Amino acid sequence: CGIVGYVGPQQAQDVIMEGLRRLEYRGYDSAGIAVLTDEGLQTRKRAGKLENLRKLLDERPLPESTAGMGHTRWATHGAPNDRNAHPHVSYIGNVGVVHNGIIENFAELRAQLESRGIEMSSDTDTEVVAHMVEDAVQDVDRSRPDWLREAVRIVCNQLEGAFTLVITHADDKDTIIGARRNSPLVAGLGDGEYFLGSDVAAFIAFTREAVELGQDQICEINRERGITVIGFDGKPVELTRYTIDWDDEA
Ligand code: GLU
Repeated sequence: CGIVGYVGPQQAQDVIMEGLRRLEYRGYDSAGIAVLTDEGLQTRKRAGKLENLRKLLDERPLPESTAGMGHTRWATHGAPNDRNAHPHVSYIGNVGVVHNGIIENFAELRAQLESRGIEMSSDTDTEVVAHMVEDAVQDVDRSRPDWLREAVRIVCNQLEGAFTLVITHADDKDTIIGARRNSPLVAGLGDGEYFLGSDVAAFIAFTREAVELGQDQICEINRERGITVIGFDGKPVELTRYTIDWDDEA
């Protein structure tokens, strides 16, 4: 339902929780966060209000991190409980995924994964994406700087339905990947910091400079390289920048 991604100098948890707070108006049944740390990807998630997630973060604080993502879920596949809340993590534990929308061909994709002995840890349509990216990463050339983006691109071409995805990998603490088909995604451009959001409310507290993303596009935000957009076909896309004209009431 609501998505935030962040890379920059600030504590990612603070930026993401503020973004999720501003996305609350959309409605949701669960919330979760993942940050990239030296000990890999760390996630916290809870059914119910953002307040439940805040309590969990007080009880089990996340390590410091300046890159991560958050999600508020409106369940379509799988009950609204802790286990089905996003982010979902791959079977090896490197890849984290948050998702808005519905992966229409998830049952077929899940059956393929299960036939290889990969066990699902949720009832969502989303989880397959985490496992598929984990596999795709093993096939791409890891010497190229955009290896994660390329792995996500390969997976997106196997997905059907409507999705906004935000994806992280434990081996790259400086990159967050977003992708969209039939579901909205915007990027935010701050001063040495970059955002992804399901709508501009996700980052309006921090910047008004936004980049519009089109259908079947992938957006990489990277600490050094900034924002890069390509199509699902791999072709580069020129950035369409605009300034958000919106009264800040929250
Ligand atoms: N289909 C996904 C789920 O049920 C995502 C729902 C959403 O858009 O929040 O987990």
